[in-house]
Amino acid sequence: MSSRHFKVAALAGDGIGPEVMREAIKVLRATEKKLGFALEITEAPAGWAGIDAAGKALPDATLAVCKNSDAILFGSVGLPDRDPTMAKEARPERAALLPLRKEFDLFANLRPVKLLKELAGICPLRPERQGDGIDILVVRELTAGLYFGPKSTEEVVESHGPPHQPRRRYRKAVDTMVITSGEIERIAHVAFQAARQRRKKVTSIDKANVLENGVLWREVVTAIGAQYADIALEHMFVDNGAMQLVLRPSQFDVMLCENTFGDILSDEAAALGGSLGMLPSASLGKTSAEKTFGLYEPAGGTAPDLAGKNIANPIAQILSGALMLRHSFGMEAAAAAIETTVASDIRAGHRTGDICEAGDPKARKVGTHEMGDAIALAV
Ligand code: NAD
Repeated sequence: MSSRHFKVAALAGDGIGPEVMREAIKVLRATEKKLGFALEITEAPAGWAGIDAAGKALPDATLAVCKNSDAILFGSVGLPDRDPTMAKEARPERAALLPLRKEFDLFANLRPVKLLKELAGICPLRPERQGDGIDILVVRELTAGLYFGPKSTEEVVESHGPPHQPRRRYRKAVDTMVITSGEIERIAHVAFQAARQRRKKVTSIDKANVLENGVLWREVVTAIGAQYADIALEHMFVDNGAMQLVLRPSQFDVMLCENTFGDILSDEAAALGGSLGMLPSASLGKTSAEKTFGLYEPAGGTAPDLAGKNIANPIAQILSGALMLRHSFGMEAAAAAIETTVASDIRAGHRTGDICEAGDPKARKVGTHEMGDAIALAV
């Protein structure tokens, strides 16, 4: 691989996935031409598209394409109404994305939430609550905690009590929250390093007043924070964090979260950005001197209500491509060029339905293709 030649696996998936992926590739191709680098993009099916093509949500051939690539640009998978008889373990939501996260040890999820000034009207918060603007990076641990600890559901028959009384029967579900100091250290480094490129503040979210996980989390984050004297570190309980996000979101720069808390808070933060259609994400694996493998995807899902109508917003997918250029390929100028062009496009008034505010005289409603074309032309 020459330093400016990169291999990309493009897994568009289901629903609006293929439509928004088409626009993202269009913008990447336009950027590539102008900024002189080369992307070798291989498209491969995943999700229901994988099941239709090869009987599996993540076909072996698709996984092979990913392994042979420098990064994965992912659309979205899952169609809730398709084949309700299929076992949940084989459905795309579990059988496509989770194995990819596991295979590539994608432990760090980055979700930048930015409310553009022109879209202040579609933010669910009143203008006075938006403060100086909303620009938050949620850094979420992605491979430990409740979602990955031992779990079970069992039938319990109580054995104690007087012999003449009927035994009490019930079902019991157990999820276990497990995290190690090493897992906390590596995600904390990601957050502190990201803060260095931003406003130099990390708010670490935990539940140290109740959970052992939280006590360890706070201890380890504090120790890692001591290595970053230039970054201000504060700790916040997750319940307060959820409240502060809607009361005064402008206080946050980088929010560092454990897996479950990050899942919930990043969706809450996403809502502040106005539409899921605007929000990209990056899931990063191990970083070496030369490269960081990552999977880049929109924060939203397959939006079956919009699929096939040319009305989905392609910006989240396009900005996911920009994150890929930045984090996996070190192409900061190209990433910034895409991000600046998206902002100018919004400033120029182009709006897909999800970000079109009724009564905004500057807004001109456009479809998925038109939005992609406008950004690709201007980049
Ligand atoms: P969703 O994100 O698909 O849709 C939620 C709402 O956001 C809908 O109103 C939708 O129209 C809107 N929306 C989402 N993306 C948009 C875009 N680009 N432009 C405009 N509006 C957009 O969530 P859901 O309805 O809960 O899930 C639908 C399917 O997607 C489910 O099968 C779910 O499991 C799957 N899903 C997949 C992923 C993934 O692949 N990473 C993530 C989330 C949901």
